[in-house]
Amino acid sequence: MVSSRVKEINESATVSMSNKAAELKAAGKTIFNFGIGEPDFTTPKEIIEYAFKSALEGKTHYTPSAGIMELREKIAKKMKNKNNIDAEASNVLVTPTKFSLNLALYSIIDPGDEVLLPSPYYVSYPDIIKLNEGKTITVPTDENYEMDFDAMRKYVSPRTKAFMFNNPVNPTGKVYSEKSLRELSDFILENNLYLISDEIYEDLVYKGKMFSPGSIEEMRDKTITVSGFSKSYAMTGWRIGYMVAEKSIIKAANKVQQQTMTCAPSISQYAALRALDDEDSVETMKAEFMKRRDLTVSMIREIDGLTLYEPEGAFYAFPGYDAAMDDSELAMDLLDKQNVIVTPGGPFGSSKHFRISYATSQDTIKEGISRIGKYFKNVK
Ligand code: PMP
Repeated sequence: MVSSRVKEINESATVSMSNKAAELKAAGKTIFNFGIGEPDFTTPKEIIEYAFKSALEGKTHYTPSAGIMELREKIAKKMKNKNNIDAEASNVLVTPTKFSLNLALYSIIDPGDEVLLPSPYYVSYPDIIKLNEGKTITVPTDENYEMDFDAMRKYVSPRTKAFMFNNPVNPTGKVYSEKSLRELSDFILENNLYLISDEIYEDLVYKGKMFSPGSIEEMRDKTITVSGFSKSYAMTGWRIGYMVAEKSIIKAANKVQQQTMTCAPSISQYAALRALDDEDSVETMKAEFMKRRDLTVSMIREIDGLTLYEPEGAFYAFPGYDAAMDDSELAMDLLDKQNVIVTPGGPFGSSKHFRISYATSQDTIKEGISRIGKYFKNVK
């Protein structure tokens, strides 16, 4: 019998879609997949070579639990130079990004503490909060996904401990302005909360500018900044990222890391070390994502019955629709009738929406979105 805690955790929203897609593929059908939230590129060769060379040199052992010092120092330097966050190695813990989110919550919340989530949110957040015995309080945003802080105050209770969000946003592609983030920071300070700022898409900003709230002096000890290598460097399989926070939080998270994963994989830490020197590949991949974004946006705009917030970052578009069916029916129907995979919006907190990941080839985008267009012509 599994624990009641685990029984309450949802499987990934894309699992049933992937199962169905596997069936169709086995039947010889071509699938247009906009479901996968990962770059289709292979990790840059120099990064792979450096990691493998390090392994061949014998760097295949446990590392210090918080990460190899050279990498923690380099991440601290990156935080200073790029994010304007005043960090030292002792403010950095190296671990996979999704695990950082778990470590952050495990380190700051007691069972029953509340975490505010602006909606739409990254699909895993509510389950990560549940897993760490917190309670999710979703807060609505407006039609441009801006937060209303006066309205948000109503959601704060004596049990509210943290506010968690990602910027650029998965699933909407929203990039928050410095002004909005300064207002958010005032709200955090006023209510004495922690801010978990998931910045995993920080390098994929096409419009507007990345701003890290942890760079605001008063927010330094209140912000847990989480980021990683998966999206910027096409390194999803290496399972490597980091969290940056005040030292006592890093110390707490490090204890949990020691008793769970011990340390991040040594070979991936060396890959990350090399990745931080590789600004060219990020720029090349970003330029290609931007072309795909433009193509996706222009094609979706042509489809009657769909609305779209123009994504400014990450690699997602999140169209809304007004047809009668709910979003999981829509996703299943699109797969059945047009062999197109999208992710339903409900698990992101937004029904009557679906998410398109455009981290796929321009040919797939052209054919797949024209199929979505054909589908909506026939549905009302
Ligand atoms: N945060 C967000 C917003 C994400 O989209 C993802 C990956 N889809 C993660 C965290 C987890 O990243 P990783 O796979 O590197 O752990």
